[in-house]
Amino acid sequence: MLSKSLSFPTSDDFIAKLPKVELHLHLEGSVRPRTLRELARRKSRLREETESWIADRERLGFRYRHFQDFLEAFKLVSLLLETPQDYALATTHLIEALAAENVRYAEITLAAGVLLWKKQPVDAVFEAVAEAAAEASGRLGVRIAWIMDAVRQFGVEPARQVIKWAARFREHGVVGFGIGGDEGKGPAEMYVDIYREARDRGLHTTAHAGETVGPHSIRAAVELLEAERIGHGITAGEDAGVIALLGERGIALEICPTSNVATGLIARWADHPLPQFLQAGLAVTLNSDDPAMFGTSVQEEFRRAARQFALGGEDILRMTRDAIRVAFLPEDQKARLFEELRTCWQRRYA
Ligand SMILES: [Zn+2]
Repeated sequence: MLSKSLSFPTSDDFIAKLPKVELHLHLEGSVRPRTLRELARRKSRLREETESWIADRERLGFRYRHFQDFLEAFKLVSLLLETPQDYALATTHLIEALAAENVRYAEITLAAGVLLWKKQPVDAVFEAVAEAAAEASGRLGVRIAWIMDAVRQFGVEPARQVIKWAARFREHGVVGFGIGGDEGKGPAEMYVDIYREARDRGLHTTAHAGETVGPHSIRAAVELLEAERIGHGITAGEDAGVIALLGERGIALEICPTSNVATGLIARWADHPLPQFLQAGLAVTLNSDDPAMFGTSVQEEFRRAARQFALGGEDILRMTRDAIRVAFLPEDQKARLFEELRTCWQRRYA
């Protein structure tokens, strides 16, 4: 138990009923085997590869030999998503899965950088996913916002294009811009102007950093890019100065433990620095990252974290409150989510 005050035991039932918020969730990484098969049916050249990927997961589980293996898998799914309708189908299935776990608000990342690489029309794809999201949101009551992200190793020009698209669709639910991929090949220094432009265009910003390389990448994302949140940030613990920096500036970490274990960045769940970050008083949010590729979900992350680190209900609530606080939402919408959280709490403990 990490929190001393308001401690109460947590349970699977408490976590199931908790109104949840997920901030680090890739659309492409959410496509489950059933949908992958459906998408592969019409694409003969990818059918065999898809079947062998699914068979590997069934046989070996959700562990990749190394990070590059995972990037290859992400690429396969991205290639299966060929048309705007494919993306719309993935969106509908994802929102249905979120609703089933009582996720009340999610920021879904669309890999616009990958769309550009595939030479697919970002506008047609975004219009399709936004329409699918509006339908599923209305039907299921899950609020959705979008983050468009660029691929670090693809370079500056494609990232600038991603910002243009993200800004163009701000009125239609895009709230933020981010970068992901290979930190070693696309360091923060390259993206200083890009992040400035994103801010100038009214976009919130996040950055995958300190995932595959050391804490200097987190410092650079905070100091040079002025990212509002950090995706992963798992190497922060290697530098007390970086922990202090995150604390001083109130920068939240989007933590995805199963993802880090599945991609081989952390050997075992028990080795994850999540408890260290909580103890240091950092703003921490729990997320699934690529739920279908790692065999998890945000609810599952809460359950695993609670079990693994003996977290109490107050720790679970704290991470949920942090997620609402650092969501890329206007204050009145955050207030509504806080209210839902309070109501859930009161119903259970009044
Ligand atoms: Zn991610």
